[in-house]
Amino acid sequence: MLHPERTTPQASEAAADILLPLRAIFDRLVESGARYDAAPLFPIDSVEALRAIGVHRLFAPPESGGRHFADARAENAALLDLLRLVGRADLSLGRIVEGHVNALKLFAWYGSAGQKAELAARLRAGEFFGVWATEPPPGVALHRDGDGWRLSGGKIFATGAGGLARAIVTARDQDGETQLVVVPADLAGRVDLSRWRVRGMRATGSGSYDLDGLRPAATDLLGAPGDYGREPRFTAGAWRFLAVQLGGIEALLAETRAAMSEAARGDPLQRAKFGEAVAAARTAYLWVREAAQRAADEAPGAEDFVRMARGVVERAGLDMIELAARIVGTRSAFDGERIDKISRDLSLYLRQAGPDHARDRAAAAWLETDLWGNGDGLW
Ligand SMILES: Cc1cc2nc3c(=O)[nH]c(=O)nc-3n(C[C@H](O)[C@H](O)[C@H](O)COP(=O)(O)OP(=O)(O)OC[C@H]3O[C@@H](n4cnc5c(N)ncnc54)[C@H](O)[C@@H]3O)c2cc1C
Repeated sequence: MLHPERTTPQASEAAADILLPLRAIFDRLVESGARYDAAPLFPIDSVEALRAIGVHRLFAPPESGGRHFADARAENAALLDLLRLVGRADLSLGRIVEGHVNALKLFAWYGSAGQKAELAARLRAGEFFGVWATEPPPGVALHRDGDGWRLSGGKIFATGAGGLARAIVTARDQDGETQLVVVPADLAGRVDLSRWRVRGMRATGSGSYDLDGLRPAATDLLGAPGDYGREPRFTAGAWRFLAVQLGGIEALLAETRAAMSEAARGDPLQRAKFGEAVAAARTAYLWVREAAQRAADEAPGAEDFVRMARGVVERAGLDMIELAARIVGTRSAFDGERIDKISRDLSLYLRQAGPDHARDRAAAAWLETDLWGNGDGLW
């Protein structure tokens, strides 16, 4: 079993008291993660355990009951450690927490005072949120008629459909702009999980959700049209899913180490592979840590740094999956083995939109500008 208290030595001070209760339930989350993966079902016990220690409120706007951090860097440092620790326990749960935190950020940036007050009440009631943007054509549209607002269309890849209380969805308004709308996420007749038959990330229940005919109130419209895509927040925000993926990579490294036989440990060829695995995990960590800081600063070029970090973490994750299998052997593929679950989850979770395109955009930007500037422009 992974010992989280010994594997996060660099946890920031800001995160120390946040991580303590999480470490206390870590083994429980690992166990329930395996159970819900096998079911597969929305991991209600795991979510309940996080709710009980208040994880769902930590990164809410302070007006909604969230914690005060010294600054955005301190907040992201704490969030990085939290997301990677949850990801180490269970990547499906990490995806759910990451979506929830994304929703909290959208409330913090674009919510009105009234919406933040309502969020506070909902968080007190223990509600978890999601953010659903991915959609099949023609996409979700927001119409206005004599009775007020009405949605048409539906979402796919809707993590937590039916399990979460609320989701923020993107909808195209009359002018073709993207408007954020808060909707109930647990209306049973609108959820379809029948096609969520996947190798990994099973417990996220990322099925489809029908929004057709839903009538949001005016107070359910979050922010102004176009806010969702505002940069650098939109692109740089990807650092949060990288933090969860990093947790999966680190968990795979720790499990591989634990599973290495004496014979393998005594063999220089196997040790070389283990060395590569350590380097891959640490490289991912260093990029994600800097991505989190740059996203916090909303610094120029933060988007490109995060775009490139996506490619680095993807490469590290793929390497780790391969190295774990080659070091541990067939055992890595058996049902019930943690290495199998993490590898399956990670292999799917790494599939995010336009991965090569992201890296190419970063490379193009860095060809355009002098990387070093007067000294240390990029690094
Ligand atoms: C477990 C899980 C949970 C998720 N939960 C959510 C959620 O809650 N909310 C949400 O909104 N989304 C969610 N998503 C969706 C996610 O954000 C991505 O949209 C999705 O994973 C991308 O799927 P895809 O690999 O088919 O990508 P696509 O973007 O369809 O790409 C598939 C492949 O096509 C090629 N390609 C794509 N675009 C281009 C291009 N422009 N030029 C050239 N080649 C291209 C690339 O080779 C790419 O690898 C989830 C995804 C997963 C796996």
